[in-house]
Amino acid sequence: MKTEVLRCSDLLLSRSAQLTSARRHSLFPSRGRKMAPTHVLRCCQRGLAWIPVIFIALVVCWSYYAYVVELCIFTIPSIGEKIIYLIFFHLSFIMFVWSYWKTIFTKPANPSKEFCLPKAEKERYEKEERPESQQEILWRAATSLPLYTRTGAGAIRYCDRCQVIKPDRCHHCSACDMCVLKMDHHCPWVNNCVGFSNYKFFILFLAYSLVYCLFIAATVLQYFIKFWTNELPDTHAKFHVLFLFFVAAMFCISILSLFSYHLWLVGKNRSTIEAFRAPVFRTGSDKNGFSLGFRKNIAQVFGDQKKYWLLPVFTSQGDGLTFPTRLVNVDVEQATVTLHPEPNKSSADVPVSPLSESQNRLLSNEQHANNTGDHLANNTLKSAESETITISVESES
Ligand SMILES: [Zn+2]
Ligand SMILES: [Zn+2]
Repeated sequence: MKTEVLRCSDLLLSRSAQLTSARRHSLFPSRGRKMAPTHVLRCCQRGLAWIPVIFIALVVCWSYYAYVVELCIFTIPSIGEKIIYLIFFHLSFIMFVWSYWKTIFTKPANPSKEFCLPKAEKERYEKEERPESQQEILWRAATSLPLYTRTGAGAIRYCDRCQVIKPDRCHHCSACDMCVLKMDHHCPWVNNCVGFSNYKFFILFLAYSLVYCLFIAATVLQYFIKFWTNELPDTHAKFHVLFLFFVAAMFCISILSLFSYHLWLVGKNRSTIEAFRAPVFRTGSDKNGFSLGFRKNIAQVFGDQKKYWLLPVFTSQGDGLTFPTRLVNVDVEQATVTLHPEPNKSSADVPVSPLSESQNRLLSNEQHANNTGDHLANNTLKSAESETITISVESES
């Protein structure tokens, strides 16, 4: 499971190597003739990528047979115990399979058309050799887009492969060969990108697989001991029951670490990629840039309505293209520091640096969103006193 986390950094590193390949391809169309072997290789890669999923599916099918047939039907003598075990087993099994299915087959969300350069601008960008001039084109196109984040060098984030301006938190996945909104990581165990469209499903998949394994391990334990100590006779069920306990316990341990890590990430409103490399804002890199406080961070992924939290149905907030940030609060925080010596100064004197058009647009959206729910950033500008309170609360997140 650790390799899954590490793979994110690998993707980031390999991404830079791919950046200009699309442009090169358009400059050298004769390469199209050599595409056939590459295409075959790609198809093979796609087929092989399903091996981990097939492996998990086979293990799950066997665990179903071993638990229902070998344990419940052949081994457990009490009818009441059989029924109770089978009911709870099937509940956890259905929820696990449902969330696993949704994680695998939910298509990763991609940037919308407004993030593509207009045709004329794209042609100019491709013809342009100087990076400064290319950036100028991107900056012009980005003025109408709601973008908070930049590259490490402060430039507009652009994907040469997909030929699209990357929305905040969007990254290019080399395995899927596309830009994925709020990309978390590419998970080989689901053969899919985990991102904005399926992050909730992924968390639930981890949660229900943990419940499934814990339930099996807990209920199998007494029969495991009985078989182990030869209290029960040697039947064909023995092998299945012994093996079932070992497999369930092994999966429990590995899933638990990954699940706790992702719960921590949800609480911080950070993706795995952002945990490795903090997003860069106008004010510099900030690993807590998207954190809105614990409860709001949970709501970003699971939604407002608690009744849907445990169901693998899409309830995440937003459109995946724009995200509320702490940017305005960072400015206010700096302002508060300057205000401390003069606590009676009015909010009109707060030296908040001007925001760009796109940032203002996003800010107004944020304030509208916050007005409908409980209070956060919108109230921070009311008075210097309330600013200090709001920031101290948010800094805890
Ligand atoms: Zn891309
Ligand atoms: Zn991917």
